[in-house]
Amino acid sequence: MILTFKVKHNRDFSLELRKAKQIAEFVLTHKTRSSKDVKQFGLKSAIANQILRKYGNNRTIKNVNRIKLTVPSQSIQSDKERRVIEIPCLNFKVQYCFRNDYEKVNQIELDNEYAYVSVNVKEEPQIVPKVWIGVDRNTTGHVAVVGNPTTGKVWKLGKEALHIHTKYKSIRKDLQKKGKLRLVKRIKNRESRIVRDLNHKIAKEIVEIAKRNEAGIKLEQLEGIRNNRKHTRKFNYSLHSWSFNQLQLFIEYKAKLCGIPLTYVEPKNTSKECSRCGDIGIRDSKKFVCQSCGHVDHADANASFNIALRQPISGLRIGRSNAGQLNTDRDVFKGNTDTPKGATL
Ligand SMILES: [Zn+2]
Repeated sequence: MILTFKVKHNRDFSLELRKAKQIAEFVLTHKTRSSKDVKQFGLKSAIANQILRKYGNNRTIKNVNRIKLTVPSQSIQSDKERRVIEIPCLNFKVQYCFRNDYEKVNQIELDNEYAYVSVNVKEEPQIVPKVWIGVDRNTTGHVAVVGNPTTGKVWKLGKEALHIHTKYKSIRKDLQKKGKLRLVKRIKNRESRIVRDLNHKIAKEIVEIAKRNEAGIKLEQLEGIRNNRKHTRKFNYSLHSWSFNQLQLFIEYKAKLCGIPLTYVEPKNTSKECSRCGDIGIRDSKKFVCQSCGHVDHADANASFNIALRQPISGLRIGRSNAGQLNTDRDVFKGNTDTPKGATL
């Protein structure tokens, strides 16, 4: 799997970027693909060739807007021990702190601020899950609540998100009132970084829970913010929708890397149904009560169990599994009829 990491650098590439733009414009107007034609611009040929390749073969690009310097694999050296990546032809070195278990660096794109380093990371072979865990996202107090109906265990993740969101919202409001717009932007960026780190952490935890339980992961298929009741509830305590999508992306790729199957289920009534008997119960903020079977549970835990027990939406299954049948059967709760252990945490 190819992963791209953003690494900040302190090198001024203005000159090279200007040359790259000139070359791209030249290539577009002269329709050339020959490296001889662009030699005059004085950009390193390995990089000039990438521009030739991109713009010379492309009939849809009309203007050159933002250009980056694309450096191919052969022009990159990486030293894993010192965690340094080097591009000798540009006399450029940068230290990195992203994962060190990559196989090779595929490509680097450079602009004046960042190096976008694409690396190849080996995926683990996919496991055949024994059970499924359900992930209820954007719940009343946590970013995600994970439930394993087979054991009744529940994990609540990302409690701090609400605090982060409230804190930064009030700081932003304050600054906006004072007209300090540049600071608002800076604060926004800081908040994004913090939320991003948190999302990484939560996604990692979810995948680790799945690994430990030899489980596949089930998520609700929620597409951003839509105007129906389910989503209104889902988003009224809210992380931004970008953050929600980001978390999903992180869970997906981390699961894929670790060989954990992941699939999506229909979100309808996951918070209203009783995970034990399937009837519609009563949800009163964090408490769920079923009047048919008398089951009482933490509302988010109940929802996460429902998600785990649902059949995947057909055609959406990511990865193979033969365990789907196991979990659509509510018998998993037999011998486990007390309130699940984690539910009161
Ligand atoms: Zn019930």
